[in-house]
Amino acid sequence: MATLGKCESTDCTNNAKLQCPTCIKLGIQGSFFCSQECFKNNWKTHKIIHSLAKGESIDGKKESSYNPWPHYNFTGKLRPFPQSEKRTVPRGIARPDYADHPQGFSLSEQAVKGSGLIKVLDDEEIEGVKLACKLGREVLDEAARVCDIGVTTDEIDRVVHEACIERDCYPSPLNYYQFPASCCTSVNEVICHGIPDTRPLKDGDLCNVDITVYHRGFHGDLNETFFVGNVSEKHKNLVKVTHECLSKAIEIVKPGEKYREIGNVIQKHAQAHGYSVVRSYCGHGIHRLFHTTPNVPHYAKNRAIGVMKPGHCFTIEPMISEGTWRDEMWPDKWTAVTADGQWSAQFEQTLLVNETGCEILTRRREKNGQPHFMDKL
Ligand SMILES: [Zn+2]
Ligand SMILES: [Zn+2]
Repeated sequence: MATLGKCESTDCTNNAKLQCPTCIKLGIQGSFFCSQECFKNNWKTHKIIHSLAKGESIDGKKESSYNPWPHYNFTGKLRPFPQSEKRTVPRGIARPDYADHPQGFSLSEQAVKGSGLIKVLDDEEIEGVKLACKLGREVLDEAARVCDIGVTTDEIDRVVHEACIERDCYPSPLNYYQFPASCCTSVNEVICHGIPDTRPLKDGDLCNVDITVYHRGFHGDLNETFFVGNVSEKHKNLVKVTHECLSKAIEIVKPGEKYREIGNVIQKHAQAHGYSVVRSYCGHGIHRLFHTTPNVPHYAKNRAIGVMKPGHCFTIEPMISEGTWRDEMWPDKWTAVTADGQWSAQFEQTLLVNETGCEILTRRREKNGQPHFMDKL
């Protein structure tokens, strides 16, 4: 039997031994507790998931009765749901500096900010970043396995968290500028940085899962957009074109190429299909630091600084929207949504520039048996 992880009860650190029988019946994954006692103590908050999964009202009110921001005008149909407690990482696993900073600041990132220098990785650093990226890919594949109708994004976060720990990795998003979870889950009109919560995924949703792991001093970063159940042709096409945008951008990566060219390639392809390119969020350098130089915009005619050299390591992660490129933020200060509520998709890889082009460090590996989204088109 798979490991159940820790008891879900707040402040309980025991290993989980039992699963909520109602959750099993309803096909809700997760819901593990160490004892009947913890289960009973949590019943009041726990039973909400049952109602949500069955599409019922909570406490006689409408499903939308949970609204932490009564004065906020949502741009689309998605709503926030209650979140679980921040998860913890065993002390034996190496942690980035921000993991223990009260505001989640990364002093190592701030120290080099504005220098404009792009680090050329040495052989040892290349090995470090390669391994982190390979492990990050494994963790994303674990998330892909559970991303389905009725599963909450909080459950995906639990699976990601456990998969990181099993691989001796710290989940990089956790406490980064106080981000409260171990991965980002961005559903439908959410562009990026969605916070996992107890909303069960619905048939037809798009769910992007963005994974970054920190392993023995190095980060590896990737994301994919998954189909939940039967997705409309319209939304499948958005995902397909977004994936093509990333592939076309990766094709031009080689020594001597300007970072600013990437956006020209992406916008040309997106625009040809009637889509727009998000401008507020960019690709980034990554190695010992999570986000650093170069800055890699995905839109055309940008003024990004720098020329690619062997040993440069960075991400490309285009966010492509059906309607406007404009974004806004939920009052949680993380969740970026499209300004018009239409949907957005994203794919991300971490790349290492070599002598002739680049290596996709977070690429899908053979033999993992996961159906690719392309197989479902
Ligand atoms: Zn990412
Ligand atoms: Zn990234």
